[in-house]
Formats: sequence, C-alpha cells, structure tokens
Amino acid sequence: MTAAPPASMIAALCDGPGAPLELREVETPKPGRGEVLVKLESCGVCHSDLHLRDGQENLPEEYYPVIFGHEGIGRVVQIGPDTPGAPAIGTRVGLPWLYETCLACKPCRSGWETYCESQTARGVQKNGAFAEYALSPAAFTIPIPDGIDPVKGGPLLCAGLTAWSALARAEVKPGSNVLIIGAGGLGQYAVMIARARGAQVFVIDMDPAKLNTAKALGADHIIPAGPDAGAAVKAAGGADVTVNFAPSPAVWSTIRDAVNPMSAVVAVAMVHEPVDLSMMWLIDGGHRVFGSSVGTRQDMIDFLDFAAKRPLPIDIQTLPLSQVNDALDRLKRGEVTGRLCIDFSL
Ligand SMILES: [Zn+2]
Ligand SMILES: [Zn+2]
Repeated sequence: MTAAPPASMIAALCDGPGAPLELREVETPKPGRGEVLVKLESCGVCHSDLHLRDGQENLPEEYYPVIFGHEGIGRVVQIGPDTPGAPAIGTRVGLPWLYETCLACKPCRSGWETYCESQTARGVQKNGAFAEYALSPAAFTIPIPDGIDPVKGGPLLCAGLTAWSALARAEVKPGSNVLIIGAGGLGQYAVMIARARGAQVFVIDMDPAKLNTAKALGADHIIPAGPDAGAAVKAAGGADVTVNFAPSPAVWSTIRDAVNPMSAVVAVAMVHEPVDLSMMWLIDGGHRVFGSSVGTRQDMIDFLDFAAKRPLPIDIQTLPLSQVNDALDRLKRGEVTGRLCIDFSL
C-alpha cells in the first residue's frame, strides 16, 4: 500500500477560450470504476495545447474550466474499484492524447480506435496532465518501458507517436525514398524513424535552422521550401512516401512535383483548406493519399519499445509547471526548435 494522495493538488486551468492558464489548488480527482490515478513526473507541451489555449479549437463552453496536457508521464498511485487489468501501483505510465474510445465500434474492434467516432481526448473533453495528478482509464493507460527518460520522454507520446504511425501506415521499407515536409518536432522524429527503417530521407522546410537540425539527425537531402522544391526532390530520386507535417495547402504542388509512380502520401498536418487533387493524377500514377492521426495503443507499445532501445536525440528543454504560459508563448513565437517539457520536480 502506498500513502493516499493528498486531498488537493496544483493544476493549470484554462477558464475559457483565449484565457491564459492559471495555477490553482483544486481537489485531487478520485479514480472511479475502470480508472487509475497517476502522479505526474512530466508532461510535454504541444502545439495543440497552444491552439486550445488560444481558443482556435472552438471548444464548447461547458468544457471549461479545463486542464490541458496530453504528453504526460507518471506513476500509478491509486486504482479505482472494480478495475481488473489495471497497471499495478507504482507502474510508470503514459497519458497520451487519446483518452478513451467506445471499444465496440468497427474501428475499435479492428484495432483502429483512433478512428472511433465517440472518442474523447485528454485535455479536451477530459482533464489532462498539466496538473500534479490526473485520471486515466486503465484500458488506455500504457506502461512506459525502463529505457524511456521519464522527464524528457513525454513528446514521444504525441509528436513521436504521430510520426511513427504515419510512417508505419505508409509501409516504409529499406531503400524507400521518404520525403518529410516540415522539420519541427514531428518532422524530426520522422527523420530518425525513417532512417532507422532504412529509408533515404529528403526534408523540405522554410527554415534553414530546422533543415540543419534535420541534417544532423540523419536526413540525406535537405531542400528549402519553394516553387522548385518538389522538382529538386524528383531530380534526386523522387519520393516513394511523402509525409506532410507543414500546415499549408501550398505543399500540394510540391508533393505532386516530387513523387514517384505508386507513391504514398500521408496527410498529418491540419490543413483546413482544400487542395487541387486530380483523379487523373491518382489513376495515372497509382498513388495512395490518406491521413494519419496520432496512433493506436498498439502503435504506442511498438513505438515505445523502439524508442527505449534507440534513443531519439531531440533537443528537449524542461521547465516548471509555473512557466507553462511562457512555454506556450515560446511555441507561438516559433522559438522552439525541439520540444518543451514540464518537469514536476522543478
Ligand atoms: Zn500533442
Ligand atoms: Zn469505437
């Protein structure tokens, strides 16, 4: 038995769209049936948290006040009643974006719970991990292997997992030419994962500093974004797989210029504007175009196993929970080349 958690905890609350996060003392939640309570060690700070704080996701009013944070790592300290199969007290676990799904629909039953139409997300419909303690459904609480750094590993649960799943869905094989568009945190994970899968990696970005980081992480070809970028990729061998992490519809013409016949194109960045996709281009080239959203629980298990054996050297800066708004502002100003993590021991 471990000591009962304290009755109250410090959490960063958002009271409404556009409101800065405020550190307040609130009641520590109690795990109900099927849930565990986790004491946080760390939580990564993600662009999605920034969009949520700044009110760009148009959350319904009844969701507030809400605690964001979906890259949490911590230890199970309490298990709810009637919760068979829960990770044991003391187990280090991850608290990712996907909070819970119905487990009954067709995507859920076939292992594709990320496409469940009644899913809930951590830090959106459910409180997240910018708090000393957080609840998590036992069936969606994945143990963190020993080889993962408990403070700097948080971004693996979102940025890393998203990159991993996109490349897995595109079936990247040794010798494939992989084009990664956008070399922020997700793109950097994708470079390392694609290299580890034996691919030749091309990276396009507007920012020369990010291109240099991609090169240092193993990219074979770095190409500045622009009207000739796709042709430059094609001239150097062309893309068999393209993963788009750049939130702009302008990338579509680059992709069209860059791809080889029978290529796979994976949409990951949230591009709301339509792009000019020709059915004749699909037919003549035999291309596959599809989307990928975070990752399933099985993807998470596979990816954490991979990352535990093969550290992914992303630049990660840590800061205390009291600086969470600063962290979001730095992301907003584009000052972060790697990722930021809240360290709850600071
Ligand atoms: Zn995220
Ligand atoms: Zn479902």
